Amino acid sequence: MRMTVLASGSKGNSAVVASSRTRILVDAGLSCRELLRRLAVAGEDPEQISAILVTHEHQDHVAGLAVLARRLRIPVFFTEPTHRAWVRMLTPRTTMTYAQWLDKLALEREAKATAAANVPRYEVACEARRMASGDDLKASRMEGILSVSAEAAGLDPALNRAGDPDAELPIGDGLGEGLEAGEEPCETEESRPAAKADPTYLPAVEYFHSGTKFTIGDIDVCPFTIPHDAADPCGFVFSSAGIRMAIATDLGYMPPNVTSALRNVDVLLLESNHDLEMLKDGPYPWSVKQRVMSRVGHLSNLAAAEFLERDYDGGAHTIILGHLSESNNAPELARISAEQAIGDRMTLLGNRILLAEQQIPLDPVEL
Ligand SMILES: [Zn+2]
Ligand SMILES: [Zn+2]
Repeated sequence: MRMTVLASGSKGNSAVVASSRTRILVDAGLSCRELLRRLAVAGEDPEQISAILVTHEHQDHVAGLAVLARRLRIPVFFTEPTHRAWVRMLTPRTTMTYAQWLDKLALEREAKATAAANVPRYEVACEARRMASGDDLKASRMEGILSVSAEAAGLDPALNRAGDPDAELPIGDGLGEGLEAGEEPCETEESRPAAKADPTYLPAVEYFHSGTKFTIGDIDVCPFTIPHDAADPCGFVFSSAGIRMAIATDLGYMPPNVTSALRNVDVLLLESNHDLEMLKDGPYPWSVKQRVMSRVGHLSNLAAAEFLERDYDGGAHTIILGHLSESNNAPELARISAEQAIGDRMTLLGNRILLAEQQIPLDPVEL
């Protein structure tokens, strides 16, 4: 198994998790163009990627999502609340009268009932008409994926609001970098019209539930809930051929469900977001500092170290520290804090500590 962190931090997150025959992209928080560039730098063939998994809808995790999924014609796996929040984020706000709203609700209920009757196996939201244009989707990747209309999934434009971006990422930044920069070179002729009509268009959407294991190719995926201020954020443990790799970033603290999910992992991408003193003295407004430090914000160096010292079983080959704040952390502070917590458990064969970077992909970690 292999983990390649393409980018980590508040300006964009993405990683490839691969077995010998399956490749999964976790988050797509850079522009499509930049993601493709970094995949090339890391020696990963984008055509071999089977699916994109989304941890949560913050811009630094989804900036290039739609464009890349359309370009590669691969399904995107979300939880349903995350998908809905993402769609709301990308759909322009509309206003309507109360009477229009009631009409719309009635229509939605009708559509939902129809969809429920037609789609017994999967709760999949993706406009039915899209499937018509998706004939040429790679059959192996698309097996078992059905579509119902986005409206049938209960999406309500009346309730549109901008997604709550990660505090470190002003919404303008992410949208500018992710959508405009990526759109031009990444969209193909056939996908462009659909994308223009609907920025939330995806070749296919598949839902998972935190706590329920599912499989993509020969990789088992265990999503677990994390405490973070998004609709339904999660981390993942991936396992294949006896090797386990986990991703746990964007979490305000380490609750018991997370510490137990992270037992027996061989490679762990763990958040070490900020140094508390640097954050307190740093440039952010107080409200943002409070949000970052809160139980639904980001994990500090200290909290990561406390986990490594108290709850971590010491059995990983490699720990990758990620989502480091550029304003409120220094890589050496994060490293020293984690190394002290690991103490004498760090050996040539185990507990190697690496730091994921924002600007360049990390060398693949392969076991
Ligand atoms: Zn993030
Ligand atoms: Zn986030």
